[in-house]
This record gives sequence, structure tokens and C-alpha cells, in this order.
Amino acid sequence: MSGEENNEPDELVAYDELPDVDNTDLTKEPQGAQVVKKGYAGVHTSGFRDFVLKSELLRAITDCGFEHPSEVQHECIPAALTGSDIICQAKSGMGKTAVFVLTTLQQLELPGAPTPSALVLGHTRELAFQIGKEFERFGKYLKDLKTAVFYGGINIKLNKQTLENESPHIIVGTPGRILALTKLKKADGEMLLNAKKIKHFIMDECDKLLGALDMRADVQNIFKATAQSKQVMMFSATMSKEVRPVIKKFCQEPYEIYVDDEAKLTLHGLQQHYIKLEEKEKNRKLSDLLDALEFNQVVIFVKSVRRAIELNKLLKECNFPSLCIHRDLSQEDRLKYYQEFKDFKHRILVATDLFGRGIDIERVNIVINYDMSMDADSYLHRVGRAGRFGTKGLAITFVSDEESGKVLEDVQSRFEVKVTELPDSIDVTSYMNA
Ligand code: ADP
Repeated sequence: MSGEENNEPDELVAYDELPDVDNTDLTKEPQGAQVVKKGYAGVHTSGFRDFVLKSELLRAITDCGFEHPSEVQHECIPAALTGSDIICQAKSGMGKTAVFVLTTLQQLELPGAPTPSALVLGHTRELAFQIGKEFERFGKYLKDLKTAVFYGGINIKLNKQTLENESPHIIVGTPGRILALTKLKKADGEMLLNAKKIKHFIMDECDKLLGALDMRADVQNIFKATAQSKQVMMFSATMSKEVRPVIKKFCQEPYEIYVDDEAKLTLHGLQQHYIKLEEKEKNRKLSDLLDALEFNQVVIFVKSVRRAIELNKLLKECNFPSLCIHRDLSQEDRLKYYQEFKDFKHRILVATDLFGRGIDIERVNIVINYDMSMDADSYLHRVGRAGRFGTKGLAITFVSDEESGKVLEDVQSRFEVKVTELPDSIDVTSYMNA
């Protein structure tokens, strides 16, 4: 089990169990660490060519239509290419994935690179799947490159066969399944997935991976199975003060890049509003909004699986083209629906927080919090599903109780954003990209 979405309170796992990591005082900056603080400066004027990447990678970058690196790419790619450990916090949708995908592929010496050379962990199956696709997209001209994605919910025998028959260079997965695979041996007694060979260890949405206690324990155990000498790269849009020391514990003299301060994490192209209403008024209001607003795709967040199923049913009955993704679906359906939504076969997605982070769907321009998130960080991640890579978007939050109002206040006091009451009419050009 990957432990995703499991937020049960539990005893804190002792970090001191990590044998490969030094025992320095975690409240201090690691010696030799470079801390870069950057404000929002959008897209950089330099080109990807300035990074001196393999021609195969530059070709793939051109195919992807990337013209200029974003600020986070400009700051992080050169540092990551030196093999240094990286802690990178930058706002949602600004291209953190390409930082670790490109720098890992650049450092891979094909043919003959160890298998596996790199391990990437993500907190959900959809995120792992998406990252796997990014490795394929950027690595498509690298002959011999093999990438595999492993997560729970499918028969582990299939993963075993992939490891045995294909020997992937890059492995992407969720912690529970990866941990299970690191324990398996081949018939000759060799490890099936030899974690000791891993040269690049990457955690995407690292605060989430290390925040949920059961997942953190899995991550620690995988980390313990790796060799000491490797590059560790950590990414997220949010890294609370509590989780930062934990993140640092996995790194040695990391190059750290944080946006200037947490307040600046909010997205500039995103308009944010709230509506105060009674719980029983939500459905009516939602239906009015879906009729009135123009959108390419919209994600509606609710707080439980049951509510996701019910709301999706209701929307379908009202002829809205919606679908629903949550953790109780079979693995096949989960990925199928994710892909269908990405392929624009549906325009409305009802989701739980499972979908709140990391997932990149270019056409989503509206996020509706039908139920408010549990906390300000989750709010920031959820609304970040609209307004990807600096594009315009709209986020609307239903506030039906005191608790939701408090989270909204917290959002506004922590991040530099004013969430105002939804006006009677909104200019379409303010949230639709031309
Ligand atoms: P993050 O991980 O920071 O939330 P992603 O890596 O998911 O962001 O990137 C968001 C979107 O921006 C993706 O669709 C990605 O393909 C696109 N993107 C990333 N870098 C660039 C770039 N330099 N130029 C154009 N688009 C980019």
C-alpha cells in the first residue's frame, strides 16, 4: 500500500533511524549550502541552449514547444547538473518537473548507465504516471533509455517482470510499491531492484511524501537501502517550517532555492474569489456557475470520496460532462479517467485531494472548492491546478461554515493574495486564455 491519502495520526517516525545521513544540527543551515532566494520573475530570457545539454535533449525540448526556461529552471538546472543535492521550492505550474527530468537525463551516461540510475518518488499514482510520461517525452531521442513506473493497485508480478526483462534506468513510483520492490530478490539471490546503484534520488511533492507518517516511513526505508553517494533532489511548492528540517536531513550540502518568501507563492494569473452560502445551497450554486462561466476544463474539489461520487452523479444527471477520480476506484479506472480528462474527453472533474497536487492538466482554467481544503497549503496546491505556467485562471471557494472561513483567512494571511467575494459578473477575458 502506498499510504496515499492516509492522514491518520500516529507516532512520529524517528528520523534518527536514517543511518546514511549526517547528524548535524538540523536547525542550522548545512555547511556549504547555498541558499538562493528568488522572487517571481516569470520566464527567463536565456535559452535552454545555455545549459549545454545533450543534443537529444535539446531536440526534445524544442518538440515540447519550450522556448525559454522558467525562473526555477534557470536557477536550478545549472546547479543540478553539477550533481549537487537540491532543495527547490517554487510555485505550482512553473516547470519543476523539467528541472529534475532534464538534469537526470543529462547526467545519465548511456549506454551502460547503471540500472536503475535514478529513482523518483511521487505521492500518488497519477503523479508517478505523469512524471514517467515526462521522462519519455524528454528522453525520446535518447536511444537505449528505459523508464518504468511502479505503483500500487496493480499486480506486483508485472513490475517484477519489467524489472527482470527491461532493466530500467529510471524508476518512478509511489513509496509503498517501490519499497516492496526493493525487498525482492532474483532467483540467483541478486536484488531485483538494486537500490545501491541509484545515483539520483528525487522526491517530487517532498513535503507531502514526508508529511504523512506512513508514507514517510516507507520513504525512509527506501532511502536507507540506497548508497550514501548519490544526488538527492527535493521539490515542492510548499515546504512548511516543520517539514524543512526533515527534508534537509536527506540532503548533503544542498543547493537550496526558495521563492523569496512564502507569501509570494500565489499565482499572478489566477483570480480568486469566495462565495458564502449554506451547505444546502451548494449544488444549486455550482450548477449556476457551470452554466454562467466559460471554461476549458474545471476541477471541483470535495472533501470525501462519498461526496465526490454523489456530486459526480448529480452533475451527470444534470447533463454536465463530468467524471470523478478518487482512491476507491480500481487502478485501471483511475488512470483511464485521468488520461481521458487530460485528453479533453471530459470537461469537468470532481476530485478529492488526491488530485490536489502535482497534476498538470494544461486546459484547466477554473478550480472550484465545493468543500474548502483542510489547510492553507492544500488550498494553494488545489488552485494551482488552474493557471499552469503563468496562464490565466479562476478559483472559487464555497464557504459554508466557520472552519472553511478560517482556512480562507489563513490563506490570505500567509500568502500575498486577496480572495474577494465573487462579483455578480466577471469579465471572461480575465480568466480565459486567448
Ligand atoms: P510544477 O511541477 O512546477 O508544478 P510542471 O513541471 O508540472 O510544474 O509544469 C507545468 C507546465 O508548464 C507543464 O505543462 C510543462 O510542460 C510546462 N512547462 C514547463 N517548463 C516550461 C517552459 N520552459 N516553457 C513552456 N512550458 C513549460
